[in-house]
Amino acid sequence: MLENVVEFFKNLPDKHCAKCGEKIEEQSECYSNTCHHCESL
Ligand SMILES: [Zn+2]
Repeated sequence: MLENVVEFFKNLPDKHCAKCGEKIEEQSECYSNTCHHCESL
């Protein structure tokens, strides 16, 4: 079962910050399109 979860996340497209284009590692909540650096600005 754990492998299925891993495969699920591996198949997700990389999310990139809408402001700086940095890859967003955190997949927590999809409420933002910006990385934590830009969010705090
Ligand atoms: Zn950013």
